[in-house]
Amino acid sequence: MAGPIEAHSIGNVDRRLVEGFRTFRREAIRLKFKDPCKAMISDYRTPGEQAALRQRWDSGDREGLAARPATPEGSRHVRGTAFDLIGTPEELRAWGLIWEYMGGRWGGHWVPPDPGHFDLG
Ligand SMILES: [Zn+2]
Repeated sequence: MAGPIEAHSIGNVDRRLVEGFRTFRREAIRLKFKDPCKAMISDYRTPGEQAALRQRWDSGDREGLAARPATPEGSRHVRGTAFDLIGTPEELRAWGLIWEYMGGRWGGHWVPPDPGHFDLG
């Protein structure tokens, strides 16, 4: 099953993220956790999409957002080096540990936490 990262792999998403996600997915499945491909809710965003998301937070509509979205200039999503997953706290923690073990950065430790966020650092 091809996830959004695969769909965006031509052009927008950093090649290292595509390769990292492939390994991450294989490890999660091997360790009997849920397939992260089935939990993907976001990866690459255009600068305009990122700005709109931040504006939505600032207007008070924060549904589905754990933390204030970064500016387009600061966003790893705009750089093509981040993806977001949706899951239970336990699923997100398990995926976060795997992703960090692989050398990636997981938002679950941030203040405020953004446990659905994974990037290349
Ligand atoms: Zn994110």
